[in-house]
Amino acid sequence: MDRDQYQNVVHTFFDCQSNVITEIFGEFLAAMEAEQALPPGSCMSQNYETAQANPEIHLLPGNLKDARDAIFPYFWGTDGWSSPLHLENVRGPANFASLVGALACLLKNPNLCTDSYSQRSNELEVKSITALANLVFYHTKDPWGVFTSGGTVSNLYAGKIGVEKVQPGAMRDGIQAEELAAVVSDASHYCNKTIVGWLGMGLKSLHAVPVDNKLAMRLDKLQEKLDELYQAGKKVAYVVATFGTTDAFGIDDVAAIRKIIDETAQRYSAVVPHLHVDAAVGWTLCFFGDYDLQKNPLKFSEELLPWIAQAQKHARNLQYADSITIDVHKMGRAHYPSSAIIVNQRSDLRYLSRSVADTPYFCEADSRRDPALFTLECSRPGIGPYCVMASLNSIGLTGWQMLTARALELAYYLKQRLEKLEYCCVLNPGTCGANVVWWVLSKGRDAKKIYKDLEDGKLSPEDVGRFFAEIRRQFDKRDRNMNDAIDARLSYTTSIGFELNGYELPAWKAVFFNPKTDETVIDRLIESLEDL
Ligand SMILES: *Cc1c(COP(=O)(O)O)cnc(C)c1O
Repeated sequence: MDRDQYQNVVHTFFDCQSNVITEIFGEFLAAMEAEQALPPGSCMSQNYETAQANPEIHLLPGNLKDARDAIFPYFWGTDGWSSPLHLENVRGPANFASLVGALACLLKNPNLCTDSYSQRSNELEVKSITALANLVFYHTKDPWGVFTSGGTVSNLYAGKIGVEKVQPGAMRDGIQAEELAAVVSDASHYCNKTIVGWLGMGLKSLHAVPVDNKLAMRLDKLQEKLDELYQAGKKVAYVVATFGTTDAFGIDDVAAIRKIIDETAQRYSAVVPHLHVDAAVGWTLCFFGDYDLQKNPLKFSEELLPWIAQAQKHARNLQYADSITIDVHKMGRAHYPSSAIIVNQRSDLRYLSRSVADTPYFCEADSRRDPALFTLECSRPGIGPYCVMASLNSIGLTGWQMLTARALELAYYLKQRLEKLEYCCVLNPGTCGANVVWWVLSKGRDAKKIYKDLEDGKLSPEDVGRFFAEIRRQFDKRDRNMNDAIDARLSYTTSIGFELNGYELPAWKAVFFNPKTDETVIDRLIESLEDL
């Protein structure tokens, strides 16, 4: 081999040339700032046609600018969602404290499989998990957890713990799928289906309980379902309560669910199902845990205080959960992937553990500090812990209270404005989240009366079909006539998860994620409805 050529490659790609790196970074930052001057989504159209046809690899070694050039069109063609007009979903710009954390992590590139591959970064994971656990579980004694690649995988961990609780040894012997059951609500996230599929339980083992008009699991229906399952000889492995449903922000009553599953399991002499809370979206309400509503130090408006009180009440119920999923890459505005699965009692992790003999190349692993002995993943990124600690401790509890309250305030403002339009009807008036789902019918119609008639069974299936089609048509019409520079981007859901008189409800949807979105965006949104 030509050693000079080799040394050249090593120097270019493995010596840290900070001037070259910061120059390229400066260029990326400049491009990002330029993008922010454009309407959302207008950077560059996609070219899937040749993505597969021309996957060429350069022949000769180049330099770091080639690295830049190789990805730049894709970087530029990706909307950073920094525009305050993005209201489509639980997605938006990450905060820059998180960027500082993420970059620090990438520079060291720890692998959080074991202590010896990550040293103090492993410690940082323990610290971030404990900080989050104290926030959601009220200073529980012995929490533990890990970061995963997302809410789906965090929920998968909980499902696996549940299966091992009711079928001990399943890790070794496999599962008896026909015996198993899991319970969720109708408004829960679709990933719960993915999970029973991947756990080998199969979709038929997943039972969805109807929700009430606040999108919360109906407790009477949960009781019925559990009785039905136990009487059929099933082992109920786990129950997932949702804390903030993705579309409409329903919150399940965790304390009441705890009581029902404990009592019912006892009545049937069954192992108590694992109670998991999917708080992927809703967990930031916990920032209000200790907020003093009387003194109101942050001067929240009188209108907002009842919402904060409601958030506090729901958040306190989380202490009754066995485990919880927290997506910091959602309302925590951190970088992907920053999701955590946290168990209330560390002893629950024993259901996931394998022995050192099962993990041969971690033969020195120590279960007290080496996640590889119980995680699904072997190599694990440190991005989550770095983004989380950087975001929590720089923005601070008060900063997070303001960010969270502002999102609630805007959702409330939009709901109020919509309620004044007779052809609109808000579908989640009573939920205390950043999401708004609503109907827009043609002018002249009384949307609230149509809702009531549907509820009372006064509409024929033809009427219902016609009204639902109209709601969609109105959405498409606004979409076609949108002025990208001033009109907020909304999304449409075919079902918010709540069945009214047997009908799944479609809706327009907005989520207040971007801290720069303000009332003028909402005022313009209302104007665009009036213009339809
Ligand atoms: C987004 C979401 C998930 C899935 O989380 P990912 O991080 O996207 O995998 C699960 N549950 C709820 C309630 C969610 O909103």
